[in-house]
Amino acid sequence: MNSPEPRTGHCLCGAISYRFTTQPEAVVLCHCDDCQRHTGSAFSENVLVAREAVEISGTPKSFQTTGTENGQLRDRLFCGDCGTPILTVLHERPDLIIVKGGTLDDRSGLKPGAEVWGRRAQDWVEPDPARPRFDGDAR
Ligand SMILES: [Zn+2]
Ligand SMILES: [Zn+2]
Repeated sequence: MNSPEPRTGHCLCGAISYRFTTQPEAVVLCHCDDCQRHTGSAFSENVLVAREAVEISGTPKSFQTTGTENGQLRDRLFCGDCGTPILTVLHERPDLIIVKGGTLDDRSGLKPGAEVWGRRAQDWVEPDPARPRFDGDAR
């Protein structure tokens, strides 16, 4: 096992920060309705990291949603001071934590391997022929 440099990240105001030293398990673009709303953007850049590898500093606020697309519970963690969405916990995958890619300090080397909930993608977001786009969940 190599030990990669730690990746660090933080919210806009800096009250919440995190670090992890493992390689992300995957990077997935999510077009789901909830991610569009939560990020206020066309999709979420979801960086999947082993939960046990992520150290969080500060106390994020948490808002639980029942996924509009699949009915699964999600804890959506954000900074209560500046409102930045930072992390998501999927109740069906408690071994993982999803880091919002835009909150990382170093965003290099995170080319997404797949896109999910493609049927919700905004109509200007062209699929990339080199990257699988699933209609719904990848599974
Ligand atoms: Zn903040
Ligand atoms: Zn989503």
